[in-house]
Amino acid sequence: MNYDLLIVGAGPGGIFAAYEALQHQPDLKIAVFEMGNALEKRHCPIDGVKIKSCIHCATCGIMNGFGGAGAFSDGKYNITNQFGGTLYQHIGHKQAIDLMQYVDEINVKFGGANTKLYSNTNTHLKKLCLQNDLHLLEAQVRHLGTDINYIVLENLFNALKDHVDFYFRTHIDKVEALTEGYRVYAKDTTYEGKKCIIATGRSGSKWMESICQALDIQTKSNRVDIGVRVEIPAEVFSHLTDELYESKIVYRTKKFQDLVRTFCMNPKGVVVSENTNGIITVNGHSYDDPEKYTENTNFALLVSNHFSEPFKDSNEYGESVARLSNMLGGGVLVQRFGDLIRGQRSTPSRIANSFLTPTLSATPGDLSLVIPKRQLDGIIEMIYALDKVAPGTANDSTLLYGVEVKFYNLDVDVDENLETKHKGLFVIGDCSGVTHSLSHASASGVYVARYLYKQKD
Ligand SMILES: Cc1cc2nc3c(=O)[nH]c(=O)nc-3n(C[C@H](O)[C@H](O)[C@H](O)COP(=O)(O)OP(=O)(O)OC[C@H]3O[C@@H](n4cnc5c(N)ncnc54)[C@H](O)[C@@H]3O)c2cc1C
Repeated sequence: MNYDLLIVGAGPGGIFAAYEALQHQPDLKIAVFEMGNALEKRHCPIDGVKIKSCIHCATCGIMNGFGGAGAFSDGKYNITNQFGGTLYQHIGHKQAIDLMQYVDEINVKFGGANTKLYSNTNTHLKKLCLQNDLHLLEAQVRHLGTDINYIVLENLFNALKDHVDFYFRTHIDKVEALTEGYRVYAKDTTYEGKKCIIATGRSGSKWMESICQALDIQTKSNRVDIGVRVEIPAEVFSHLTDELYESKIVYRTKKFQDLVRTFCMNPKGVVVSENTNGIITVNGHSYDDPEKYTENTNFALLVSNHFSEPFKDSNEYGESVARLSNMLGGGVLVQRFGDLIRGQRSTPSRIANSFLTPTLSATPGDLSLVIPKRQLDGIIEMIYALDKVAPGTANDSTLLYGVEVKFYNLDVDVDENLETKHKGLFVIGDCSGVTHSLSHASASGVYVARYLYKQKD
């Protein structure tokens, strides 16, 4: 065996697994394989001038590389069991929260000390939401911001680099179970280890499916969230964002009884496009540095879609909807709320004459040609509901960018320790289907590392 532990993927799951394993056994020989670049080499060529849209790089500078999908994100670490994953179903509510708090301590230690931890447990806004049939989920949130998140990752890498063999730009093609241990294949080179942790995140979801097939591990997939990113003047939501930073609000639609929720709120932030497996969708982030503030706040409104048998490919459903917007707009579409309600497309001049300046250059168009009626009706209903707690949300000039899709990974069949039926092979973070967030993914890495290497009393 070359290594004690092989880790595939250097996102938060993989990083925290390596970090925690070394806390318990500093002499471990650990290899981390990452198809993307080292942090300082991660770069998206879109500069808004020469390159305006995605040119489909071999590995995406935003999604792949040290730090994983969240490296350039807003760095919101939500400490809660109410959203972000179902880790608690495997390891218990208390332990899940304890581990997320531990992850927070590490983030603070590695550069996040001056960032704010928000909490919405005792807020009067909960009552205001309930009075309007909206439900505010409880959480503490550490907002690192894109800039500090980068510094934390840089510091974590510096702490790990002399103790871990990092293989960047190394795509693992195959994982093989040996009589004892595991072998991973990267083109013509193989590496062997006693244990193996797979932490390939969302961008590795298709790959994960093939690995599970090859290793005869059961999977299922039945959920995808589809929606839009809403952009409004920051003042409209300031009473919520100043106090809570991020508010996760859930609404049940009257018409279809679907759940619609706010997601990834970015006060004074920017809307961005992102490339998942060649499909351009929309996202958003914001900075801790006041100099980078914009005048707008953005957040997603997502409708949850759960499918039942015989349909099995919920992600393909989401991709198909996103492909429609790519087909009509060459990427992300943008429409004013007023235009949507009037049943007319937005045009470049309508957007230019609007009171709100978009932070993303997207193609003005008509989202009703893209988003299925059921989801679009749900989004419109929720915008009117939000207007009651944040008047101005349903203004004519509110911008809706589409499509935002939240893909969920396959649920991989793992036990309470996130171990597959193959002893010593673990699947953690977003690629397991158990987590969908930075703090849950990181906590899952800590959990498995402790399970493997912490001395039992
Ligand atoms: C733009 C954006 C903003 C976000 N903002 C937030 C936020 O504010 N708060 C929050 O909680 N969550 C946020 N998320 C989600 C969060 O980033 C993920 O939940 C989290 O990164 C999951 O961590 P992970 O380690 O499981 O996977 P990832 O972070 O996806 O990392 C997996 C890594 O594995 C690598 N990989 C994949 N396949 C292979 C292979 N075969 N061989 C080698 N390497 C491979 C990938 O390149 C990647 O670097 C955001 C996501 C995006 C895209």
